Amino acid sequence: MIDTQRKFIQIKQFLTRNADSIQKEATQQHITYLGKGSLRIEFINKNEAIHIQIVRKIAQYLEEKKSKSATNVLKQFGETIGRESVQNGLTIEEAVDGTIFLKQAIWENLQRQHLLRNITTWEFYQMNQIIGTYSDVLASQIAFTYYNERQYIEKNLLFLSKASKILSSSLDYQTTLNTIASLAVPEIGDWCVIDMLDIKGELSQVAVAHKNPKKVKWAKALRKANPPNMSDPYGVANIIRTGKSELYPIITDEMLIATSKTKKDLALARSIGFTSAMTVPLFAQNKAVGAITFVTAETNRHYNEADLIMAEELGTRASVAIENASLYKGSQEAIAIRDDFISVASHELKTPVTSVKMFTQVLRHHSEQIGDYKAVDHLSKMDKQLNKLTELIYNLLNISKIQAGRMEFNYERFNFDKSVKEVVEVLQQSAPKHILTVQGATKKDIMGDEERIGQVINNLVSNAVKYSPKANKIVISLSSNKDNVKVTVQDFGIGMEKGHFKRIFERFYRVYDTTDKTFPGLGIGLYISSEIIKRHGGKFWVDSTIGKGSVFYFTLPVNGKKITKKI
Ligand code: ADP
Repeated sequence: MIDTQRKFIQIKQFLTRNADSIQKEATQQHITYLGKGSLRIEFINKNEAIHIQIVRKIAQYLEEKKSKSATNVLKQFGETIGRESVQNGLTIEEAVDGTIFLKQAIWENLQRQHLLRNITTWEFYQMNQIIGTYSDVLASQIAFTYYNERQYIEKNLLFLSKASKILSSSLDYQTTLNTIASLAVPEIGDWCVIDMLDIKGELSQVAVAHKNPKKVKWAKALRKANPPNMSDPYGVANIIRTGKSELYPIITDEMLIATSKTKKDLALARSIGFTSAMTVPLFAQNKAVGAITFVTAETNRHYNEADLIMAEELGTRASVAIENASLYKGSQEAIAIRDDFISVASHELKTPVTSVKMFTQVLRHHSEQIGDYKAVDHLSKMDKQLNKLTELIYNLLNISKIQAGRMEFNYERFNFDKSVKEVVEVLQQSAPKHILTVQGATKKDIMGDEERIGQVINNLVSNAVKYSPKANKIVISLSSNKDNVKVTVQDFGIGMEKGHFKRIFERFYRVYDTTDKTFPGLGIGLYISSEIIKRHGGKFWVDSTIGKGSVFYFTLPVNGKKITKKI
């Protein structure tokens, strides 16, 4: 027996002394096996230090035979190699096969040094058991960690892609915050709390989610008892100041004592049973403006660095969603202010313009009577401009009414063809350079608001004139079937690209920007027209080719019913 121990000590000393060269030999054989130029060679070299330590540990335990502590140490090496293999993109076989070459190199070295020559079968059996078992423990730990790590990464990726989809589905600020909190539970933690800086620069808790909804009120009570302060040296305040995450793998009782202000708070905190926590910052325009805190309690899960990376990734995606939601909120507020302004301004303009128009007519009448024809001419021009101004104000008023869902319609049955022809005749007078032709007929009396439908035709024909400065023909075609009448207005002007077809019916949308002097306008005519047609239950569309001209179409039901609700 004494002899056996001596032999084992001899082998141990040899392995310890030659761990470096044994590792080198293993690596060399591994590389030969892989062939030149393999990507994995980098990873094998990276693991040099671990492999040397493994040889030394095997040697150490060869003598001590403390298999339990040996197994634990080798498991740790296995964990490191397994995790890094995943990060380096190796397959599970590639992650494990380093251990085979190492075991091989150990045996070959012992053989070459004749250290196995005088040993008994029983001694050989013992050694084989130790070296073999340890290598197997190492390999199985590598495989186990590798598998878990991959599963964890895949689960995280799936969760993050689900989160991104959900986050981009709403532009409402509060909905977005609630979504983030509830997404995190129970995937990342038992609780999730979001704090944001308010306009005054103070922290406010904007969303809370708990695995058990009943416990949300606990979370709120705890927060009420311990409101965070921007001067706090730790926690959310510190994260917002530094923009750096905090990870607490274990929450100890000392930590609870240190952060609780009263005995009651401490009792509450203890009863919740915190296990682990992490907080990551939320950014807007590169500045930390809030934080998400994840907490585990009843599940007893301890967060680690990998969890923190995942939480930070969620934080980054949430930041984008929050920023989008807040930009959208801002733009909606700006639009509301603009709409209010348009509504008030158009109301205020209506009365003075109406009275100026009235006095212009009185003056013109007077000038005619006294025979001052120069004044009559000037006043006629003034009246024309006033008509343009009135139309503009009328359109702006219409926009406000549409927005508020207060556009009123005067429904009655009228002769459609006659009505169209009348509008076109008036327009012909103000467009002497173009020939406006009405083709076909609907031969229908339709139910609708004649004045508003006239406004649509007026708008389409005026646009046809405006956007065809080099052509002189405009064709208005009328047709019908049993249920609908159809109008097309065709010009041979500048046309537009397909990409604009839908958008030109939006409020204030123009193909040419507002600074374009060739085609002045506000981009509201088609919006109002399409609203009028939609409220009559009709359809509106366009077809156009750049440089060739445009055709606008609309249909109206013969027996139109008022559609009152906003569409
Ligand atoms: P506005 O003409 O005052 O800009 P509209 O709402 O009537 O506003 O039209 C929206 C946009 O659609 C116009 O700015 C123009 O770019 C385009 N458009 C409308 N009618 C025509 C047309 N007949 N030919 C080419 N483009 C047109």
